[in-house]
Amino acid sequence: NRQIVLNERPKGEPDANTLRMTTTEVPVPGANEMLVRTVYLSLDPYMRGRMNDAKSYAEPVSIGGVITAQVVAQVVSSNLDGFEPGDYVLSGSGWQDYAITDGTEVMNLGKSPENPSWALGILGMPGYTAYAGLLKIGEPKPGETVVVAAAAGPVGATVGQIAKLKGCRVVGIAGGAEKCAHIVENLGFDACIDHTAVDFADQLKAACPDGIDVYFENVGGKVLYAVLPLLNPFARVPVCGIVAWYNLPGLPDGPDMGPAIMGTLLRMKVKMQGFIIFDNFTREVYEEFRRDMMGWLQDGSIKYKEHMVDGLENAPDAFNQLLSGGNFGKMVVNVGV
Ligand code: NDP
Repeated sequence: NRQIVLNERPKGEPDANTLRMTTTEVPVPGANEMLVRTVYLSLDPYMRGRMNDAKSYAEPVSIGGVITAQVVAQVVSSNLDGFEPGDYVLSGSGWQDYAITDGTEVMNLGKSPENPSWALGILGMPGYTAYAGLLKIGEPKPGETVVVAAAAGPVGATVGQIAKLKGCRVVGIAGGAEKCAHIVENLGFDACIDHTAVDFADQLKAACPDGIDVYFENVGGKVLYAVLPLLNPFARVPVCGIVAWYNLPGLPDGPDMGPAIMGTLLRMKVKMQGFIIFDNFTREVYEEFRRDMMGWLQDGSIKYKEHMVDGLENAPDAFNQLLSGGNFGKMVVNVGV
């Protein structure tokens, strides 16, 4: 059983010493337990926070501990009612080939789900994050302008497509011409601005002639600073993530942006709210998401793209790519041992 564990806490970007692969015996399930084998491993930006020894909404991974993750796995053997060998499950197994579980927070996806890996993306945590964050906190209205960065990723791409379905003007932000072309041509955003362009802030302003009513915050950094002067009175800012800053070892050098941020919130009467997807919303919102999203995927009004990497051993590199924009779509590792 191969496992990827935390070797030492990273200072900045994870490097060759941060993670380590170990091998253990394949565990044997006891009474009321089952053994599951990972098929698809989800890589998500939040995992960077778990590598720090810092207070957060979840406990950090301990040194020597397996890195946290949701996976789609198959049941190998089961002493649990409701789970049979061959069933696909969504489980919090982490970065490893095999895991034992007592079924807590494990979802049975059945023997032959159509797209098993989608449970990690569009039909799972990132899709739900986009849906609830945008609709329940962003509250977009027809004709309003919605801006979202990391717009080729599973959260941003879904935010933008839902906002289009709600009748908004949608401006995406992404790194590079290829991602921007995909976002406009395949996902139907009204515009997409490349944040690596030298005149990025001017281009964003030109793409938002009526200002910004909803800024779905995925990245922070210079994107946030370019958005600030464009926010309209009573704009809403769901704070979902700040991936531009996840690898920062401390506060950055440079001007103190506190006055610009707080001054804008105050003068523009902006509503800014952070959220952690599984803490903020009720079961009803989740059911609503499942119903709407299944419908949108079936009728083709929402599109979904995965970036599949083969082999558990490649997960550490793929994770660094994810944090720096090397992914094009939802990052998933095909473990399939
Ligand atoms: P993505 O697959 O979109 O990956 C992150 C992307 O961020 C990269 O591909 C890159 O895209 C972009 N990025 C990285 N650095 C920068 C930068 N300096 N400036 C601008 N863009 C940058 O990730 P997800 O869709 O899975 O997640 C998006 C955000 O949502 C993350 O912040 C994540 O932490 C957050 N999240 C929050 C949840 C919650 O409950 N609050 C739940 C799930 C996700 P590009 O090439 O376009 O720059």
